[in-house]
Amino acid sequence: MNPAEVIALKRDGGAHSPAEISAWIAAYVRGEVGDEQMAAWAMAVYLNGMNAEESAALTAAMIASGETLKRGADSKPRVDKHSTGGVGDKVSIVLAPLLACCGVDVPMISGRGLGASGGTLDKLESIPGFRADLDFAEIDAVLAEVGCVITGTTADMVPADRRLYALRDVTGTVPSVPLIVGSILSKKIAEDLDALVLDVKAGSGAFMKTPEQARVLADALVEAGEAYGVSTSARITDMSQPLGRAVGHTLEIDESVAALEGRGPEDLMQVTMAFGIDLLTATGVAGTRSEALESLEAAVRSGAGREALAKMVAAQGGDLDAPRAVAEASDVPAERSGHVAAIDCEALGLAALELGGGRKHQGDIIDHSVGLEMCVRVGDAIDAGDPLLRVYGDRASLAPDALAGAIRLEEAPVDPLPLILE
Ligand code: URA
Repeated sequence: MNPAEVIALKRDGGAHSPAEISAWIAAYVRGEVGDEQMAAWAMAVYLNGMNAEESAALTAAMIASGETLKRGADSKPRVDKHSTGGVGDKVSIVLAPLLACCGVDVPMISGRGLGASGGTLDKLESIPGFRADLDFAEIDAVLAEVGCVITGTTADMVPADRRLYALRDVTGTVPSVPLIVGSILSKKIAEDLDALVLDVKAGSGAFMKTPEQARVLADALVEAGEAYGVSTSARITDMSQPLGRAVGHTLEIDESVAALEGRGPEDLMQVTMAFGIDLLTATGVAGTRSEALESLEAAVRSGAGREALAKMVAAQGGDLDAPRAVAEASDVPAERSGHVAAIDCEALGLAALELGGGRKHQGDIIDHSVGLEMCVRVGDAIDAGDPLLRVYGDRASLAPDALAGAIRLEEAPVDPLPLILE
C-alpha cells in the first residue's frame, strides 16, 4: 500500500473499499503509516466524509486492531454509557458507581479530553494515586470487586483508537461522524456489553452544534451498536452551557462526589438519572422506569453510590478522600444587569484548556487544579456586579474578554433551556 495514494483518494472525495480501510488501520497500528499520514487522512475524512460501508469498515478495523474483554457465563448484565463530549460533563463519574449499586456491571473504557471537551480519565487522574492504565486482569479484578471500573484502553485493546484519538485531539479532526463512531464503538464493543446508551451532545460546547447534526451522529452510533448485537439507544442532550457548575478536573471530581452525597446540581442529576434508567430497563434489571429511578435514588440516599466510587478509586490505586489541590480563585462580575441569554460553552471549554487544563500538543501535561465554576445559567436574572463565573487559575493566560464575553446578557427575560432535547 502506498499511504500517499490512500490519502489522495480521500482528499479527492473518493470512497475506500472495506479491504483498503482494514489494511490502512492495520498498517497504522504496525507503525507502517506515520502519524503525519494518518493526520492528513483524518483531515480528508473530516472534509469529505465516508459512506455507510466505509464507516462500518472503519469501526470493524478499529475493533479488530486489538483484544476485547471476556466474561464468564454467570456474569451480571454489562452496561455502559458514553458521551460524545462536552464541557463540565461528569455524568460517567456519577453514573457508573450508581449503576454498580443496582445489580449491573459497568466496565467503562473511557477517553481523555478532546479539544474544548473534558475527558473522564483526565478528571479521575486529579485524584491522588488514581490509575487509568489498567490491564485486562486488573479490569476484571476491579469489576468483580466493585461492579464498576473506569479506565483507558489497555495496551492491547483498540490500539488504533488510542493513537488516532490523541492525534485527532491536536489536529482539528474531532467532529467527524465516521471518526467519532469508529472511536466510540470500537471501545464499547471491546467491552462485550449487553446494553449501551449514548449521550450525544448538541450545542455550543459540543462537537455537533445543532440538534440536526447530533441526530445524524446519534443515528449512526445506534445503528453501529445494534449491528454488533448490543442493545443501543441515544439521547440528544443540551450542551449550550456547561453541565453542572464545575468545569475542570479537580472541580468536577468535587462536584461528582457532592452529587453522590445528594448535593448534585439539578441538571447533572437529571441527565445522570435518565441514562441510568435507560440502562436498568434495557437490561430488564428494573421492570419499569419508576422502579429504576427508585433504585438509583436509593443508592444516592444510602451513600452506597459514594462508597462504590471510593472503592473503585481505591481499587485503581487512588484515595478519594485525600486532599485535591485547587488553584486560586477569582470572580468575573457582570458589568450590567440583565438576563443570561446565551453562553458560548466552547469558549469556556477553551478558556479552561488555556488555563492549563487541556492539551494543545500530544503529551502536554495538564494542570488538574484549574478550571471554572459557573455562577449563572441561561435564563437567570442578574444584577451588575453579580459573579458570572469563578476562575481557578492564572487569568493572565486568557484574552481579556475570554470569559465575560462568552456570556451574553439581554434586557428581556429569557426562558431556561431544555436539557434533554430528544
Ligand atoms: N469520544 C470518543 O471516545 N471518541 C470521539 O471521537 C469523540 C468522543
